[in-house]
Amino acid sequence: MAEDMLQFHEMGIDDRLLKCCITSYATVTQAIADLGWAQPTLIQEKAIPLALEGKDILARARTGSGKTAAYAVPVIQHILASKQSVREQDVRAVILVPTKELGEQVHAMLDQLTRYCARDVRVVDISGKADVSAQRPILMEKPDVVVGTPSRVLIHLNAQNLALQKLEVLVVDEADLLFSFGFEADVKNLLCHLPKIYQSFLMSATLSVDVQSLKEMILHNPVILKLEGSQLPDSCQLQQYSIQCEEEDKFLLVYTLLKLRLVRGKTLLFVDSIDRCYRLKLFLEQVGVPACVLNSELPIHSRCHIISQFNQGFYDYIIATDEHALSTPKTPSPADGTKAEKGGKKQQKTKGAKDKEYGVSRGVDFQNVSNVINFDFPKSVDSYIHRVGRTARANNQGTALSFISHTEVATHDDVKKSLVQENGECMLNPYEFKMEQIEGFRYRCRDAMRSVTKQAVKEARLREIKQELLNSEKLKTYFEDNPRDLQLLRHDKDLHPAVVKPHMKNVPDYLVPEVLRGVIDPLSEKTRRRRNKVFALAKPTFKKSNRANNPLKSFRSSGQGSKARKPKPKAKAKPST
Ligand code: AMP
Repeated sequence: MAEDMLQFHEMGIDDRLLKCCITSYATVTQAIADLGWAQPTLIQEKAIPLALEGKDILARARTGSGKTAAYAVPVIQHILASKQSVREQDVRAVILVPTKELGEQVHAMLDQLTRYCARDVRVVDISGKADVSAQRPILMEKPDVVVGTPSRVLIHLNAQNLALQKLEVLVVDEADLLFSFGFEADVKNLLCHLPKIYQSFLMSATLSVDVQSLKEMILHNPVILKLEGSQLPDSCQLQQYSIQCEEEDKFLLVYTLLKLRLVRGKTLLFVDSIDRCYRLKLFLEQVGVPACVLNSELPIHSRCHIISQFNQGFYDYIIATDEHALSTPKTPSPADGTKAEKGGKKQQKTKGAKDKEYGVSRGVDFQNVSNVINFDFPKSVDSYIHRVGRTARANNQGTALSFISHTEVATHDDVKKSLVQENGECMLNPYEFKMEQIEGFRYRCRDAMRSVTKQAVKEARLREIKQELLNSEKLKTYFEDNPRDLQLLRHDKDLHPAVVKPHMKNVPDYLVPEVLRGVIDPLSEKTRRRRNKVFALAKPTFKKSNRANNPLKSFRSSGQGSKARKPKPKAKAKPST
């Protein structure tokens, strides 16, 4: 720990908040290791004192840098201080988020931070789970902090369920995404409902032109914190690889990586459409690899439950889309968001309706993700950054591996260009995997793919939605009274549109390339199944990715034509105010 680094207890933060943040400072009496944070992250160290001085802040910090607490701590502190002089109850802070998932996550963080002052600071998340009408009575009680998407906040303002004349702090989280999610008009309309003076924070992964215009609208003489040169951690923390392979080879490679446990630990697999989600899920099902699917078609309760269970270690693999960003026009007509919200209920009931405010690759804190696999390459540099940013969060290690077909080469080149560092080195390196070594698996993969027809995908998609709508209803009511059953609800069950041939689940030894025989997971399917059962009952666990025991890397450096990469010294981020 750097000696000159400002610590939480030196920031003038209320003891009730400190109790939640700090672990090991004897100087701070009653400190309890609730969140296990030994020291502030860089963004927290810089932003919290400035925010407590009352400054407006524009912060560019990479995803996973601890941005949420960087604004949440001053917001809570502000409210606690305010309450000492003002007795009247009012909404004092609004936190705008681009997605429901992020709303839920921000709410959870605020809940943790207000644990010892929950009576003084009441937080409500209106980003979308409940009906607008059901939220009215909650808002009428004037909670201290309201978290929500701009469209939802605007609906309540227009319906006079919410009044913001006494607002003291406005936070815009993941500001760059508000525009790409089409909230520009809603934000502008919303600003008309705010008082003349309030403090604002704008947090963003990128300082795009859109963010600059938001800055003009919201911030007054702000301090600008550009905390990271790169939007992703350096290569000591995050290893990024890509490999060229066409459609059939993508399945062959993913089969090898997962079945031979070359990829270990929790893994997010990104694909570029909902159908692709099910195609990959059904394929993996055929070869005995259970995975959850996450996309905008699933109800919000199920999505949040999947993320929460994944974070608790229930699942190893999630197949996710970020298809929202692809289908949404960048600058929709005014009040688009609001309209989408109003029609939302109707839409949800129709088959295949997508949720406008879905977003898993962005902002959501998937915890302890060891690997991100871009099964389909993202459609833009921004999307790449957001997807890959799901791993190597806080101080964890991570690996990102992208498959590139010939149609994806151009975007891959753009991403490579954007990842060239000041010293001229690119952070995205070729994954030198010898595909001919795994030729023996090709027949098996073709066999598995044979059952993954268009019809099978369609049926699986329908079955899953039906199932998840039922789950979602239960999640709303039944599980509140039966929390133990909630733990047993799983989202990675087989969808079974085609018969799964039992022999396909095993990998015969003679097919395993010789060079890999020493590094693959020695557990048989049967043992692993038994082990998984035990995991489901006992405290879940997972393996963290690390260079020494990660066969993805040991394979590369075992003389298969690849050079072992030398870790570079960690770049020190320099904040500039
Ligand atoms: P965020 O960028 O806000 O999404 O945070 C990313 C992750 O970092 C979350 O899981 C936080 O719980 C964690 N985190 C935030 N602040 C700290 C800290 N001071 N020390 C360790 N972990 C932190």
